[in-house]
Amino acid sequence: MINAKARAVSGPDSNFYATEIERRDLDTHDVLIEIKYAGICHSDIHTAHGEWGPVHYPLVPGHEIAGIVKAVGTEVSKYQVDDRVGVGCMVDSCGECEHCRNGEEQYCLKGNVGTYAGTDRYGEPTQGGYSTHIVVHEDFVLRIPDNIGLDVAAPLLCAGITTYSPLNHWNANSDKKVAVIGMGGLGHMAVQIAHAMGAEVTVLSQTLNKKEDGLKLGATHYYATNDTATFEKLASSFDLIINTVSANLNLDEYLRLLALDGTIVNVGAPAEPISLRVANLIGHRRSFAGSAIGGIRETQEMLDFCAQHQIEPQIELITADDIDNAYERVLASDVKYRFVIDTSTM
Ligand code: NAP
Ligand code: ZN
Repeated sequence: MINAKARAVSGPDSNFYATEIERRDLDTHDVLIEIKYAGICHSDIHTAHGEWGPVHYPLVPGHEIAGIVKAVGTEVSKYQVDDRVGVGCMVDSCGECEHCRNGEEQYCLKGNVGTYAGTDRYGEPTQGGYSTHIVVHEDFVLRIPDNIGLDVAAPLLCAGITTYSPLNHWNANSDKKVAVIGMGGLGHMAVQIAHAMGAEVTVLSQTLNKKEDGLKLGATHYYATNDTATFEKLASSFDLIINTVSANLNLDEYLRLLALDGTIVNVGAPAEPISLRVANLIGHRRSFAGSAIGGIRETQEMLDFCAQHQIEPQIELITADDIDNAYERVLASDVKYRFVIDTSTM
């Protein structure tokens, strides 16, 4: 067993505390990674607080992991010691179902194994990246391109792929008008990626406070959703809307912003059910869809795309003692635009 330092919560109302966790000895295809940086995703908060259902505590969240390979199992062929690597939201899947074979492990018919709050193939609860080390099967390890720093690479492993995948699937390109709801961790990546794909990008944020940043990252337009005039002005104008908001919105207001055949894709994952007026779909043949992260092959494609287009998240580096404070700030939409833990402070 390998002992790793980590930060954990003991229940839904717990603060983070310093602890040690055991990582398994390397199996033949395992890679031991020394984690350098771990991003804080809003999903960590939903999960740590038990909002999505019961979880196994103590829980070490973190699925935006970047680090260096320290050791490899006897049959590992993809990675070597000293490689710069990442791990995202999954660490395993059945590998045999139709979706796994198509490289869409996130939709594994038997359910993929989450990087934390899952159960691994040995029957043990998985623990995530707020930690100094992790052991992962080589098939779920990503290669970080040389020109992306490890600190800014970390958020790409969830925020990057979760926005890249639907933009790719729904063909964001120069013929498309794309809106992004929420300028947080996912939203500020969606703006950059959609812009690099050639789409005309509009940000729909609660206020205009982050307008300058949104325009710098590639948006052409930026509107405040606390102004009702926004919804009148933008009626029937977007081909694709990526909704990154972590809370429930009045969906009908946003559906009416879609053009004929437009689609709104929820990547934001609020805990409570949402309702909508079907008439808002029928009228303009609109669709309401969802999308989960992305497969391993697509995640590597996204990393290479970001390297090629010089796309990076804007991060605020924090120490391990700052995690509770960072959670409060994310919940208050006070994040520009991703908190990343420097794990050397564990
Ligand atoms: P985040 O950094 O907190 O960003 C969410 C943004 O939504 C905020 O910055 C804010 O932007 C806006 N917002 C927050 N509360 C709002 C409210 N009550 N009304 C209107 N707008 C509000 O969170 P994130 O890490 O990007 O994650 C966003 C959501 O995606 C979470 O629910 C997370 O669990 C989910 N997620 C899903 C997947 C997936 O696979 N589908 C993957 C990762 C994350 P403005 O200040 O600009 O309004
Ligand atoms: Zn995430």
